Amino acid sequence: MISSIVFLIVLAITAILFYRSIRTIIKNIKLGKPLDISDQKSKRWKIMFLVAIGQSKMVKRPIAGILHILVYIGFIIVNFEMLEIMTDGISGSHRVFSFVPFYNVFISVFEIFALGVIFACAVFLIRRNGLRLARFHKPEMTTWPLLDANIILSTEILLMSALFSMNAADQVLQVRGIEHFEPTGAFLISGFLVPWFSTFSTSTLHFIESFGWWFHIIGVFAFLNYIPYSKHFHVFLAFPNVYFSKLKSATYISNMEAVTQEVKIAMGLISEAEASTEEVGRFGAKDVRDLSWKSLSDAYTCTECGRCTSVCPANLTGKKLSPRKLIMDTRDRLEIVGKGVAKEGATFDDKKALWGDYISAEELWACTTCNACTNECPVNIDHVSIIMELRRYSSLEEASTPATLNAALTNIENNGAPWQYSMHDRLLWAEGMEVPVMANVVAAGKMPEYLFWVSSAGAFDDRYKKVIRSFVKILNHLEVDFAVLGTEESDSGDVARRAGNEMLFQMQALMNIETLNSYQVNKIICCDPHDFNTLKNEYPDLGGNYEVVHHTQFLQQFLDAGKLKIGGDVFSESTITYHDPCYLGRGNGEYDAPRAILNAIPSTKVEMKNNKAFSLCCGAGGGQMFKEAEKGDKEIFIERTEQALATSCTIVATACPFCMAMITDGIKYKQKETEVKNYDIAELVALSMKL
Ligand code: SF4
Ligand code: SF4
Repeated sequence: MISSIVFLIVLAITAILFYRSIRTIIKNIKLGKPLDISDQKSKRWKIMFLVAIGQSKMVKRPIAGILHILVYIGFIIVNFEMLEIMTDGISGSHRVFSFVPFYNVFISVFEIFALGVIFACAVFLIRRNGLRLARFHKPEMTTWPLLDANIILSTEILLMSALFSMNAADQVLQVRGIEHFEPTGAFLISGFLVPWFSTFSTSTLHFIESFGWWFHIIGVFAFLNYIPYSKHFHVFLAFPNVYFSKLKSATYISNMEAVTQEVKIAMGLISEAEASTEEVGRFGAKDVRDLSWKSLSDAYTCTECGRCTSVCPANLTGKKLSPRKLIMDTRDRLEIVGKGVAKEGATFDDKKALWGDYISAEELWACTTCNACTNECPVNIDHVSIIMELRRYSSLEEASTPATLNAALTNIENNGAPWQYSMHDRLLWAEGMEVPVMANVVAAGKMPEYLFWVSSAGAFDDRYKKVIRSFVKILNHLEVDFAVLGTEESDSGDVARRAGNEMLFQMQALMNIETLNSYQVNKIICCDPHDFNTLKNEYPDLGGNYEVVHHTQFLQQFLDAGKLKIGGDVFSESTITYHDPCYLGRGNGEYDAPRAILNAIPSTKVEMKNNKAFSLCCGAGGGQMFKEAEKGDKEIFIERTEQALATSCTIVATACPFCMAMITDGIKYKQKETEVKNYDIAELVALSMKL
């Protein structure tokens, strides 16, 4: 009776404390900006089952993944035994479910999983503290985060051990025929302790059984209330957070409606009277309350596993940026803001902010927006959204974009390209070639099937102009009905958007959309994966809806249809490795088309250490192409070139102008220009085409 009352009091205290912690966390998450994520419910459930319940991303690193799954499943299974412990605690019974047939078999299964949990936790402890795995010893992982992980792992081992000693003592007491301890049959794992426990007196066994029971239950209750203050809160939040994952292309960046309105007024597309009178708040995010609730939920869901940081090209090359730290900083800041708001109300202001006080410019501007971090995160956290919001604030509210990047943005604004060329020269690349220009074609009463989007790099980068010319040769050879915009094309705005200058991006986008829509363009072919991503995924938000294909996808269609015939022995002695551009691969899931084309070219093919979804960025995305790299041990493009050279290739195939510039520089840096060449896939096709 007394024991039941004590149990009920402990249970009530646990429930109240846990409820209060959860309520605080929910309140804190609600401090974020509203974001409607109510679409595609069935797809969301599927992702949740696959990623959160099925742990599909964990097994990509098999050893850690299997051990984690062992702890995860073990914890769920072992907690079935908790049901009995709770019922016994409330009713004062002992092993209330022992009447169930094969009861001892069930308990034995629980024990096998409990042993698995002990094993996995021991390995994790050794890995963290003994083997000192690099990703657990980054600057953000000292003090509390390290201690937190050790507390959790040790507690799990202790809880499971308590279960074993409780069960072993119980079995000996059963054999001795002690009242209350009904025979249940032997338990598999704790049975190994029985010979030793049999040497103890009955009173000692009573104590051990009772201590094990209370230790386990109090331990679980304490653990439950510790979790909301620990990274282990992901055991609860992972499920809803994964459900609310970003479903669009990884490289899609959401539109800023408030900016659209201003840009439309500036461009005379709407009048001030037509504009919404809703007050426009701060552009981008300075502090956590400027982020969406989903970003704040991400912050609480982080497991601090460091997988994101371990694949981040900036971090890998010694730069200060760590995507894990970015998420941990967001959570730490939110905790402080949450407490402040709870105490002082919505006007709370401690004169600090996420931007500047937690996350520095050096960290922020080192990101290439490659999305290796989001791809790797086992709970689908979206680091890039936070980075983009901070960049938007930095650019739109503070005008503190890095100077070199700013120069490129000024060029876009003045010349419609990141370089200082006149927009009237946008068709010079086509000199000496027959290239149909949309205005002329339409004036002649025709409507071409495809618009070939040349891109700023295609128009002005000397090396990439050759790629564009090769591709046009292929289009002509295949008798494709196409045209280019010529001097009517302007920069897509990709760089401006990734640099946080949403105004400039939207001006470029709306201008291009107006041109494209005036020609009723439906189908677009694009060689630059950045423009491909922007036109395909981001222009629809501003009224530009087109069927956009990357040139490798376009060529694959012709290859599959037997219309593009590739062969010859131009590259038969060559060894080709392919570098996946982030914006085509991880961003838009296209890994096969470039490889299908390369496989059709007689040559030897080799893969780099990092390929497909795990490809390493070339270092140029997210505006990096136009700015100085942040301080580090190495430039990203050198790291990637070294990976390519490690394959002993003679050709590095690329499918992106930025990648081409970076890899070419890398080959030069390594002084391998004579042995190793860099070609775009279009060039390889043009040289291998059977005419
Ligand atoms: S997007 Fe790429 S560069 Fe940026 S934080 Fe993630 S992994 Fe690092
Ligand atoms: S953000 Fe994701 S990958 Fe990075 S540490 Fe947190 S849980 Fe791990």
